[in-house]
Amino acid sequence: MLTLIRGATLLAPDNLGKQDVLIAGNTLIAIERDIRLDTTLAVEVIDARDHYLTPGLVDSLTHITGGGGEGGYHTRTPAMEFSDAIGGGVTTVTGVLGTDAISRTLPDLLAKAAGLEAEGLSVVCHTGSYQVPIRTLTGNVQQDIMLIERFIGVGEVAIADHRGSQPSWQELARIGAEARVGGLLSNKAGIVSVHVGEGKDRLALLFDVAEHSNIPLSQYYPTHMNRSTALLDEGLRFTRGGGTIDLTASNTPEILDAGEIKCSEALAYLLDRGADENRITFSTDGHASLPHFNAAGKLESLKVGSMKAMLDEFRDAVKRDGVDLTRALKTVTTNPAAILKLPKKGRIKPGLDADLLLLDKDSLSLRSVMAKGEWCMRDGTMVKKGTFE
Ligand code: ZN
Repeated sequence: MLTLIRGATLLAPDNLGKQDVLIAGNTLIAIERDIRLDTTLAVEVIDARDHYLTPGLVDSLTHITGGGGEGGYHTRTPAMEFSDAIGGGVTTVTGVLGTDAISRTLPDLLAKAAGLEAEGLSVVCHTGSYQVPIRTLTGNVQQDIMLIERFIGVGEVAIADHRGSQPSWQELARIGAEARVGGLLSNKAGIVSVHVGEGKDRLALLFDVAEHSNIPLSQYYPTHMNRSTALLDEGLRFTRGGGTIDLTASNTPEILDAGEIKCSEALAYLLDRGADENRITFSTDGHASLPHFNAAGKLESLKVGSMKAMLDEFRDAVKRDGVDLTRALKTVTTNPAAILKLPKKGRIKPGLDADLLLLDKDSLSLRSVMAKGEWCMRDGTMVKKGTFE
């Protein structure tokens, strides 16, 4: 099956102007100004002149089996479904466990990931959870990454958080070393996804690792970095040391009132201070619980992370906070694909996977989604759904 998308303004994520894009099966095969096909094969032609064509979004943190539970069993969040991702323009997800690694398990995570992949998404996972020592599938982190194809790293390991295991820098260095060698031997990212909580120690443990061991900051990928201005400032220092940081797109009014910085604003803040635009990502934190604890540590409210948040924050970064279109788009496409080491994702180029979005040029609203060469949303309507949707 051939699909020809005609005349869209291509954000690859660099703005390449009006281009025609040809897709065969699940692969992008040609990008040219004016593609002429002399063929008897069936070709679906899409007129996309009023649209931007962008890569499908790459989400580096999604609780695909559901997460949470910090308010008791009834607050365990529901699992992600196929259309949750597609509705938010996300075509690649990274499945993780979180606070709960007792009732949420790695076999369940891998099975859910395989199910979503069969339905049409691209899915990778991390071994482990918040807890240290890391609970793995095969006995250790290095082995999990090397032998389980879908595991590309470990995490999210919690630091600076009352829900974490309060690890030492030595323990974090050892986890980083295991992940690093596992990644080297399997040609995968081998990163440690780090959940950074509200604790005052912030990134201190990671800076200690870099100072006192042979493991570089780039081995760690801290998320929720837009919790506060103080944490963002440490994030800036972290990126200057060679690391990549992640901003959480999901938020709630309660969390923003408590001092968290809206993702789009945090991006503008970092770029204004000269941060490297290649070292910042957004993730949805989809299907996480978004708990708000008061000053006494009591749970006050709990909501669920939305898969639509990343696209919304990308749009707000451009429309509301004045970030350049390509720079904003990189945080949700090229940059996460680079840190996750997914070479066929996050860009539009011949030979790469046909994961594509069509956005309305004026409003940047999502119109159509193609995942691995298949249309899942067309002109705002879901045309492909998950098994039980
Ligand atoms: Zn987290």
